[in-house]
Amino acid sequence: MKVGIIGTGYVGLPTGVGLAELGNDVVCIDREASKIEALRAGKLTIFEDGLEDLFKKNVSAGRLTFTTSMKEGVENADLVIIAVGTPPHPVTKEADMKYIHAAATELAEYLQGYTVIATKSTVPVGTGDVVEGLIRKKNPSADFDVVSLPEFLREGFAVHDFFAPDRIVVGANTEKAANLIKTLYKPFEGKTKMLFVKRRSSETIKYASNAFLAIKIHYINEMANFCEKAGADVYEVAQGMGLDNRIGNRFLNPGPGYGGSCFPKDTNAMAYMGRMNGVNLSLIEAAIKGNDARKVEMAERVLEAVRHVPEARIAVWGLAFKNGTDDCRESPAMQIVAELLKHDVRLSVYDPKAIENARKLLGDKVEYADSALQAAKGADVLAILTEWPEFGKVDWLELKQAMRCASIVDLRNMLRPEEARANGFEYQCIGCR
Ligand code: NAD
Repeated sequence: MKVGIIGTGYVGLPTGVGLAELGNDVVCIDREASKIEALRAGKLTIFEDGLEDLFKKNVSAGRLTFTTSMKEGVENADLVIIAVGTPPHPVTKEADMKYIHAAATELAEYLQGYTVIATKSTVPVGTGDVVEGLIRKKNPSADFDVVSLPEFLREGFAVHDFFAPDRIVVGANTEKAANLIKTLYKPFEGKTKMLFVKRRSSETIKYASNAFLAIKIHYINEMANFCEKAGADVYEVAQGMGLDNRIGNRFLNPGPGYGGSCFPKDTNAMAYMGRMNGVNLSLIEAAIKGNDARKVEMAERVLEAVRHVPEARIAVWGLAFKNGTDDCRESPAMQIVAELLKHDVRLSVYDPKAIENARKLLGDKVEYADSALQAAKGADVLAILTEWPEFGKVDWLELKQAMRCASIVDLRNMLRPEEARANGFEYQCIGCR
């Protein structure tokens, strides 16, 4: 199948590589010329485990190409996938649809023969109708269908999730379009559940899923707060809860709050849609409020550890919103850093993958270290903010020698409390003592 993908970011690029690996002819389109130049030069523009080899393999095989030209990517395509960003509107927090609208309008004039337009971006309910209208207006004689094909991949696991998705949801209003998507995903037949639903249901499934997961994280974070006060251990509590199949044992890891490019924006967009439809989505509203407050509370825990130290030096391990990615968008770590910077402290930060992205946001407000140990040099407290596995492999002696005060605030529970304390550290974690 000939596939054009509009938007070559964290979703579009792994999708393009994956579809090429399945044998399709894929053209990835992006309006950012520098991204396309880098990709054409064989340089990946995002970090995702396992992506590089597949990318190189499919480029060499001639199945994967990159362009800034909408015409080149769309005119011969059987399927055009829209994977552009839908960032939160700065004021209302609804999904900002300007990139979707632009992509739909730009692609319309190049459609030739029957084409399915699939929206992979996370879009408000009813967007399929809007996209259809925009294309129809620009090119009244075009033969096309618009389907909703929500993306559920997890950053850091994008390649794994492409080839082994939990489910594929398709919102198609015509059989012809549904059949084309079935053909695309034929290699997954018998391995992955495929759910065909109304387009508006499909659009809702994506938001309803992300909002549910965000609420689950917020719930265990509140339980962690409770456990700290009540002398319980949140991991034991989570284990006991998770053994109930109705609850399930995943997404019960306490931490500094949910973040990333999806949960914060999708919960806000869902809450906005609730308000617009006159529906009370109180659980989602509460999770948003509580999660925002949590980042400030987490920063306060770090500051409390250096309350009596003038011009304290704080070492930060981790800036990405989670491990396995270089993405800092809405990262709890970055928000905690921003809170810390409101105080009279100096920060030395380290992240194995996200330093370049962080630098774009933090500029010269912090010092950047090349290693975890270097960041810890002379620090009065170490704050662990992202769960990179390497942070769990501490050389206690080296760390103690590097720091000015042996104090750790571990907001990802990477270290064993008893080990940290046995090695002479003041140690705080989340949800237990
Ligand atoms: P991104 O910002 O990484 O990538 C979007 C890309 O689209 C950018 O490279 C941008 O230059 C390009 N673009 C924008 N308008 C364009 C146009 N008119 N023509 C060509 N290119 C254009 O975004 P992302 O993280 O890949 O997310 C894309 C969508 O997928 C969002 O709606 C997001 O909510 C959703 N989603 C993201 C994830 C994730 O883990 N990142 C997971 C599931 C769903």
